[in-house]
Amino acid sequence: MDAIHSLAERVRNLRPSPTLAIDAKAKALKAGGADVINLSVGEPDFDTPEHIKDAAVRAIRDGFTKYTAVGGIAELKNAIIGKLKSDYGLDYRPEEVMVSTGGKQVLYNIAQAMLDPGDEVILPAPYWVSYPAIVELAGGVVKCLPSDPKKAFALDVGAIGSMITSRTKAIILNSPSNPTGAVYGSDDLTAVAELAMKRNLTIITDDIYDSIRFDDKRPENVASLMPEAKGNTLVVNGVSKTYAMTGWRIGYLAGPEAVVKAATKIQSQSTSNPNAIAQKAALAALTGPQDCVRKMAAVFKERRDFVMARLGAMPGVECVNPNGAFYVFPDLSSYYDMEIDGRKIDGSLALADYLLDKARVAAVPGIAFGDDRFIRFSYAADIKTLKEGMDRLEAALNALKG
Ligand code: PMP
Ligand code: GLU
Repeated sequence: MDAIHSLAERVRNLRPSPTLAIDAKAKALKAGGADVINLSVGEPDFDTPEHIKDAAVRAIRDGFTKYTAVGGIAELKNAIIGKLKSDYGLDYRPEEVMVSTGGKQVLYNIAQAMLDPGDEVILPAPYWVSYPAIVELAGGVVKCLPSDPKKAFALDVGAIGSMITSRTKAIILNSPSNPTGAVYGSDDLTAVAELAMKRNLTIITDDIYDSIRFDDKRPENVASLMPEAKGNTLVVNGVSKTYAMTGWRIGYLAGPEAVVKAATKIQSQSTSNPNAIAQKAALAALTGPQDCVRKMAAVFKERRDFVMARLGAMPGVECVNPNGAFYVFPDLSSYYDMEIDGRKIDGSLALADYLLDKARVAAVPGIAFGDDRFIRFSYAADIKTLKEGMDRLEAALNALKG
């Protein structure tokens, strides 16, 4: 028997993370000597701040190198509670908090803890690539809620009500959003909170980009706007983006004790505690000076403005101005159906392939985020790299027009 047939159906149907796959391809090309501008994966290009690294070194030297409590050390849970109180005005007890190996594992544990086969999850599109896979791995069914770039990808709250069925368990919100950079309006979030309470739904609010927003407003989510909805809300967050700590793998969950307990039970039977040393680093991140966070957000804003100005000067390119995160998500569909060197650009996959092969710019096709019109470029790169990336994109698009 061929080995592939011995694999479970769940994995045969699973697509590898396209963001990580394109990043790997770009890195392999670079390692082979190709001059690639990698604007694919979403991770801050800044180094992890020094005081955070020092805390990790100290943890190693102090022998803090053993198993910890499965759901995270008490000091870190308290630091997370402190952050959710100071940023969102929300009160949590340690039993309502779990620390995991990145935000991704938090989401995975939630799905495994909450979803029975056939349970439905409403997902605004464009969406981050891993949400559908995580829901489907738990047997859940994704119901996409489209959003309109002409309305700056705002939440279509009116449509949510009619999507709810007896099988609807949850809705996922991600604001600021990956990939669009949209920040949902307070009124819309409040309306979703009301709906969730009325229809007994859980809101999974992925706030991982909460420190990278360009409107000078404090972070907010459904529970901070409507405290009565806290019992319906699962807050997902982490240190990966805020503190340039993607490789350390620390994310966290805050929510009702029963869900946190169930998610922690899954963790106890899968990965056990998140890395002990990284937990000490995350503790230093959350309790140490926060000026590094503000500085990084200010630099992201400058880069957003630079990239938006460049895209704005390219004919046939439409791009909503992102209010947060570090991605631009231009509509490049006016270049579809064009042909170059015998290659037909029949959608975002073909355009992203063309950009990588011919212009040596790595970006993620919109189809991976549920909308084929777009391509995602991360601007978590220095201005020189971004300038070169935009020069190459412009030249590649011009070449398509012939
Ligand atoms: N949510 C969103 C929207 C993301 O973009 C990411 C990207 N990594 C994650 C969650 C997961 O982050 P982590 O690296 O902490 O697993
Ligand atoms: N979230 C980032 C991205 O969208 C990191 C890669 C991943 O975890 O998918 O590129």
